[in-house]
Amino acid sequence: MTMSMPAAFVLKACAELPEPEHCLRHLAEHLREDGLELAEEHGALVVTLPDVHGRMWCEDGQVVVQATSKDAETAYFVRSWLDAAFRHLAAGEPVRVSFEENWKTRGLPPSFSILKVQAMRMVSRSMKRITLSCPDVARFDRKDALHLQLLVNFAALSQAKDDTKPAAIWRRYTVRSIDVSNGTIDVDVFMHGGNGPGAAWASALAAGDMVGVAGPSGGGIGIGKAGRYLIAGDETALPAIARILEMLPVDARGDVFVEVSEASDTLPLALPAGVTLTWLKRCETPLPLEQVVDTCLRSIGAEPVCLWVGCEAEVARRIRSKLRAEPAFGDVDHLVTGYWRRTSH
Ligand SMILES: Cc1cc2nc3c(=O)[nH]c(=O)nc-3n(C[C@H](O)[C@H](O)[C@H](O)COP(=O)(O)OP(=O)(O)OC[C@H]3O[C@@H](n4cnc5c(N)ncnc54)[C@H](O)[C@@H]3O)c2cc1C
Repeated sequence: MTMSMPAAFVLKACAELPEPEHCLRHLAEHLREDGLELAEEHGALVVTLPDVHGRMWCEDGQVVVQATSKDAETAYFVRSWLDAAFRHLAAGEPVRVSFEENWKTRGLPPSFSILKVQAMRMVSRSMKRITLSCPDVARFDRKDALHLQLLVNFAALSQAKDDTKPAAIWRRYTVRSIDVSNGTIDVDVFMHGGNGPGAAWASALAAGDMVGVAGPSGGGIGIGKAGRYLIAGDETALPAIARILEMLPVDARGDVFVEVSEASDTLPLALPAGVTLTWLKRCETPLPLEQVVDTCLRSIGAEPVCLWVGCEAEVARRIRSKLRAEPAFGDVDHLVTGYWRRTSH
């Protein structure tokens, strides 16, 4: 039996949070930090993206969000993001959230699959390469969708009884490489030393474990449009940078900057002859990533530039606001993404 799908996937979430006005402002701030633009319309904050249109407001002491997504996969991750954001806003207190949807969900994204860990090895001091067996590997072999989502608490979720199931915890990673003939993909995880569920998942993983995966989705660069490429990031963006470099035309020109802690965190990268790679070692480099990007942009003439950056969310926010504020950078075709968020705990 085939289930009919709605033309648009509409989700309404109502969260009973202490100080809802303050929480709404916090939610809006979080979205702005991620580079999204919010407009005010009839007392609601509105965000419009290619695949989602969202409105959020306060009503009867609750924070209300209505999101309309183009597909079920996007709708699932909007719901998952909201769920995590409401829990974060409640700061450990129990929070009552009700979700209403116009489609039936099995509680997982449509692209969800379970892959097996075939092998693992450290490829640098801090980067763990995880090789996953993937029966339908061809689905990852795309130039316009570089990333996947990992369900990092898959083991806990599969063991829990229905009434005690924890919320799903997803983390985003890049598909570093695809081996169609062997039916495997590689994911490189930066072991950042923080206490996050993603890093904990990667350090506890063993060959033979099963892993919950969704995707691929997102990422990439406008290849072939630019006269010059400026690509920068830290260790978390290194897998994406490596893949982007492999996709550049052989005659591409540009500069790549990767910030790492020390020399043993570097990895060999395949570069077109006209592209220069600089490793920025945190302890030795006087200029942080954002200043390097700024200096580099200023030294480029009138040719069209494509700027791609993946780094800490606050650094990404500062780079984006500089691009907006400086008329000289107005024409720079750019994708500047927060790959992780520094928190104090
Ligand atoms: C599109 C995209 C693609 C990505 N691809 C990759 C990839 O291929 N490989 C990869 O390793 N990561 C990648 N990331 C980053 C990865 O999703 C984040 O680092 C993720 O937040 C790690 O989750 P966590 O649960 O370990 O830590 P979190 O729950 O996010 O954070 C927990 C604590 O750890 C600290 N922390 C988190 N990340 C770092 C860090 N990088 N350095 C220092 N402290 C940190 C935080 O400050 C916090 O205190 C990608 C992110 C995006 C958006």
